[in-house]
Amino acid sequence: MAKSKSSLADLFRFTTPAAALALGAAAPSLHAQEDMTKPEIKVETKKDANGRESVYMYIDGVKVHETDTSKQPLPPVVTPGDKPGAPPSDAVVLFDGSADSFSANWTDTKGGPSKWKVVDGAMESVRRAGYVQSKEKFGSCQLHIEWASPAKVQGDGQGRGNSGVFLMGTYEIQVLDSYENQTYADGQAGALYGRSKPLVNASRKPGEWQSYDIIFHRPLFDKEGKVTRRATFTVLHNGVLIQDHTVLSGGTGWRGPHAASEYKAHPDKMPLSMQDHGNPVRFRNIWVRPLED
Ligand code: MG
Repeated sequence: MAKSKSSLADLFRFTTPAAALALGAAAPSLHAQEDMTKPEIKVETKKDANGRESVYMYIDGVKVHETDTSKQPLPPVVTPGDKPGAPPSDAVVLFDGSADSFSANWTDTKGGPSKWKVVDGAMESVRRAGYVQSKEKFGSCQLHIEWASPAKVQGDGQGRGNSGVFLMGTYEIQVLDSYENQTYADGQAGALYGRSKPLVNASRKPGEWQSYDIIFHRPLFDKEGKVTRRATFTVLHNGVLIQDHTVLSGGTGWRGPHAASEYKAHPDKMPLSMQDHGNPVRFRNIWVRPLED
């Protein structure tokens, strides 16, 4: 559970029904509203040399099946990793299991050396060490991260193997030992904390390595700091879809037992962070591919 400061003023600043709805914890998952005017599709009928008519469609000005690469550039070649989950050639590798990789890429939340430990090719959360955060900042991105809750089971509910992956240091995908460990649905492993429960529980047993593959699009804000496009998350847990282009209805920060924080404007790029929730949760094989917004 992430803790954040809140005030009564914050609680009562919502005036519209939509804002009130957005405030509601555990609201049903929202899906992006489509802009049906995009892309722009133009249709022409042309005659060939024999007088036969053919339909030519142009999507955002580019002909369907265009072979001229100056008009339709080919996608860049990316070499995939040599096994599932391995970083592809264009990934920013944030942790490869080595102590050097950890110290080169991660700090505590004040930018100083982190007190998390590197153990057996993994970085491990240390009680009271605080969150760990990446030196590099990201906005919209694809993220691969692997994690393991402690093999030795201790505690229950939110107290068992709790950590979290925070996109932009702000939006938490819950990390929790949710193998035969019941808690509230919007706080189990793979939940967007307090906002959207996972579609299924794809948890492995305690101590076993698990993966999150996350496609994240950051929220956009106007000059007044009002959110104009909410964040979206697609998440696979151990290869199983658990968040299906979920529109995040607001922030995921803790603001009491039955509330989540609202969106609050922030920079376009921020560090990735993981939570110290007092349990020795491990992480490894962390890489990011920045995406267009
Ligand atoms: Mg957590």
